[in-house]
Amino acid sequence: MQVCIRCNARFVSPEWLCPQCHFVPVKESKYRSFVQKNSGTDDGFNANTFSALTEIENIHFWFKARNDLIVDKIRTHFPGIQNFLEIGCGTGAVLNGVHHAFPAIALSGSEITFEGLGYAANKVPNATFYQMDARVIPFEEEFDIVGAFDVIEHIQEDELVLRQMHRACKRGGGIILTVPQHPFLWSATDEYACHKRRYTRRELVAKVERAGFKVEHVSSFVFFLFPLMIISRLIQNVYPDRDDAIDEGFNVSRPVNRLFSSFMALERFLIKKGMSFPMGGSLLLAARKK
Ligand SMILES: [Zn+2]
Repeated sequence: MQVCIRCNARFVSPEWLCPQCHFVPVKESKYRSFVQKNSGTDDGFNANTFSALTEIENIHFWFKARNDLIVDKIRTHFPGIQNFLEIGCGTGAVLNGVHHAFPAIALSGSEITFEGLGYAANKVPNATFYQMDARVIPFEEEFDIVGAFDVIEHIQEDELVLRQMHRACKRGGGIILTVPQHPFLWSATDEYACHKRRYTRRELVAKVERAGFKVEHVSSFVFFLFPLMIISRLIQNVYPDRDDAIDEGFNVSRPVNRLFSSFMALERFLIKKGMSFPMGGSLLLAARKK
């Protein structure tokens, strides 16, 4: 069901008309907006990141690998789901991947700005999109899965976001998350990406459980390439003025991209078998609503 962002009433209304206070969230262009003016957010992404990302996401090994891992998590932990909400759907690369793997699932996506929604809507025209602040998710027991992929590290109040995701999940449903791992890897790349933190596994699991979930599986990924990643971050931290520091990790040649993809495919295979890698660039987590 839906939740009124003004009076907190629960209701079901295709027009989003609150029966209690009669508030209707504005519809700007095609998208219902739940972002209240002056909500004081300074979180998020650089707006110009989106156009750069659409190019990269189609070919880069890391985005391909992350999509595959997410699709596997849906299949393993939440078979037979009917709907899926992605918080911070960016350019729609994940929704597009989920749509191709599970064409029958009803997809929704949200972004805090309209710019992102335009990109995502082009890529996944059948999905429903909302302009939404992840700290105010206007749903209760509505979705089988709520996903956030490299999103909560951008938000100061990550635990509030997890509680809102918990409310939006149906009973028996759950969440799938990816986040950057290991605070010691903090570098110019994180600052450029407006990250608030990189997570330890312990911190992520504790926060997810405090929000009311039972963690079913958590694994690091980017394990085999982890030594290369550490070297690349060290170079960035030693030579912070290098102009290409922010591009580190995105500029890979085609043969290298193919080679790295095969490492990631091996990780995918092992994670699918239930393996949990102890370290790596990112964390992948699946948890069920208690
Ligand atoms: Zn209301």
